[in-house]
Amino acid sequence: MIPSLEEFMLLFGDDEKTIQSLISCDIIHPTRTCNKCGLTTYVKVSRQTYRCNKKSCRNEVTVRTGTFFALSKLPISKIMLLGYLWLTQIPVSSAASMTGCSNHTVCDIYQYYRKLVSNHLDFQDVQIGGEGVIVEVDETKLARRKYERSQSVDDIWVVGGVEKSADRKVFLVPIESRDPASLATILERHVLPGSIIQTNLWNYYSGLSESSMKKEEPEISYSVCSNSPAKHFDINTLRGTWEGLKQNVARRNRTTERIEEHLWEFIWRSKHADDAWDGLLFALKEVFCE
Ligand SMILES: [Zn+2]
Repeated sequence: MIPSLEEFMLLFGDDEKTIQSLISCDIIHPTRTCNKCGLTTYVKVSRQTYRCNKKSCRNEVTVRTGTFFALSKLPISKIMLLGYLWLTQIPVSSAASMTGCSNHTVCDIYQYYRKLVSNHLDFQDVQIGGEGVIVEVDETKLARRKYERSQSVDDIWVVGGVEKSADRKVFLVPIESRDPASLATILERHVLPGSIIQTNLWNYYSGLSESSMKKEEPEISYSVCSNSPAKHFDINTLRGTWEGLKQNVARRNRTTERIEEHLWEFIWRSKHADDAWDGLLFALKEVFCE
């Protein structure tokens, strides 16, 4: 559960509250070894530093050292507030008005959060299916322009899969060339052996078949539900994913340079649909930034 804005402000309303809350979440440590003399130093919340008490040393380092908050010079409470706004999917321009930051600054901080959570995912998070698990696989087009009759070279194609299980694990991969070999490689990487793949792609990627995927990796085998063009799967679970993706990835971000980080963000959000706030705090706790 994501806290309400009121609950959030009680904990992170100013820099001191934020540092106290980050200490209690174990994101900022209450003590730190002095990097000059080796003595234990203690956090001084009002100064936002660790200060060494040894008279001959008096070394002082900021509480941000080694944390996510070292990435920006913005007040620590503002970085947290932007994290909250990013998590609740407030658009950049609205977040800029709400915080007094420029659009550019909000974009930067949003991108830091996106990278933070993306790096917190493991490859296992995007390996889906398994023995007897049904996996829906399909592709979708993320168009850059709203009104267009023909296909544009700018369009981004994404191949994705979702598990028909309680976990709803998902993988999403931008695909440069829509050919059977590329699709087979994606399936080998992201769909675990033994999965039952439901897809209509066999119809579009001619030449792709169960046997074509077995050639290179003989130990990998899938049950492919049907290779026959007559059989059409109703990929309901994945349809919801495509809708969510199109809502979440703004058209300006549908570029080869930017798409991947947005796909990772989407995968992280899917994984943490029920515990996004805790997931964010956990990522902040685990990360080390210089
Ligand atoms: Zn010292």
